[in-house]
Amino acid sequence: MAYQPNNNRYKNMTYRRCGKSGLKLPAVSLGLWHNFGEIDSLDNARKILRLAFDSGITHFDLANNYGPPAGSAEETFGHIFKDDFKAYRDELIISTKAGWGMWEGPYGDWGSKKYLVSSLDQSLKRMNLDYVDIFYHHRPDPETPLEETMGTLDLMVRQGKALYIGISSYSASETEAAMAVLKQLGTPCLIHQPKYSLFDRWVEGGLLDVLGNNGIGCIPFSPLAQGLLTNKYVKGIPEGSRISRHRGNGAIEEDAITEDKIAKVIKLNELAHSRGQDLAQMALSWILKDPRITSVLIGVSKPEQVSDSIKCLENISFSHEELEKINSILS
Ligand code: NDP
Repeated sequence: MAYQPNNNRYKNMTYRRCGKSGLKLPAVSLGLWHNFGEIDSLDNARKILRLAFDSGITHFDLANNYGPPAGSAEETFGHIFKDDFKAYRDELIISTKAGWGMWEGPYGDWGSKKYLVSSLDQSLKRMNLDYVDIFYHHRPDPETPLEETMGTLDLMVRQGKALYIGISSYSASETEAAMAVLKQLGTPCLIHQPKYSLFDRWVEGGLLDVLGNNGIGCIPFSPLAQGLLTNKYVKGIPEGSRISRHRGNGAIEEDAITEDKIAKVIKLNELAHSRGQDLAQMALSWILKDPRITSVLIGVSKPEQVSDSIKCLENISFSHEELEKINSILS
């Protein structure tokens, strides 16, 4: 049946300004790294995307290599976009990336102009789009001159194939260097996409300051540490969970479940309950408490996880005592 979006979709979502730009993003955005590949259920993917948009999630995040196989998440998205979302293109912020290995030979990886230009052209075809809203360089390239990589991002904007550009997993100093080159070219860096969660706080060691001081937005990925920051692994590895599926390509594996981690999860769960939240909600709220964060980038395997996680917005403030408690649990 033809998709008819919820008329109240903008009522309950918060939209936060992305750094000093004109763009606002939903406080919760949806990533398609897992569960949208060719091997996954198209019906489930469609349900998730429809529910997300119905809930005010206007930002969908992809990358050339999401699947499996690589490229198939963009194809799934393109298929559903054509059926359901084409009429709403101007209500959507769609991002993609390149920077990790995508095809054989010397031109399908890292940060050369040759790779990035070809990759974006491929992504646009797979997604049935004329342009993406945000194109990211997916990881720093130690060998390609920064001027070449950033110059390519600037070119994409000038060609109208991307409206804004971003970088992912660049360190604080790499971000400063990239930002300076981009500024000279006249295309500001809109946003940074770093890994950030209660279990991985590296961005607090300088990156968040660089972003905040320079008006660059921040959209953390894997905010639930790929599912570890929920109660799902407390009693073992449930069937169907990300760990049980052994997807490789950076997906969480059994060795992430340690006694120490589970002990922390149990304590964090108790604290979340005392705030009227579940752990997933508290872990997301905890990231959003910082005004330098534009949006939190969730992944889901089921529509219910969208509904559950989005409730994090009901309580994003933390008392001093709660923050101290979290720090002592994590220490
Ligand atoms: P999360 O840390 O949010 O992990 C998502 C997983 O957590 C889900 O698949 C699900 O696990 C579980 N989960 C989510 N919500 C709930 C809930 N409410 N209750 C219980 N379990 C829940 O994020 P991802 O690791 O998926 O990353 C999110 C996005 O970030 C990606 O889709 C991608 O767009 C981006 N990303 C970017 C990277 C980069 O290099 N720039 C790298 C990695 C991700 P289960 O499947 O077991 O049900």
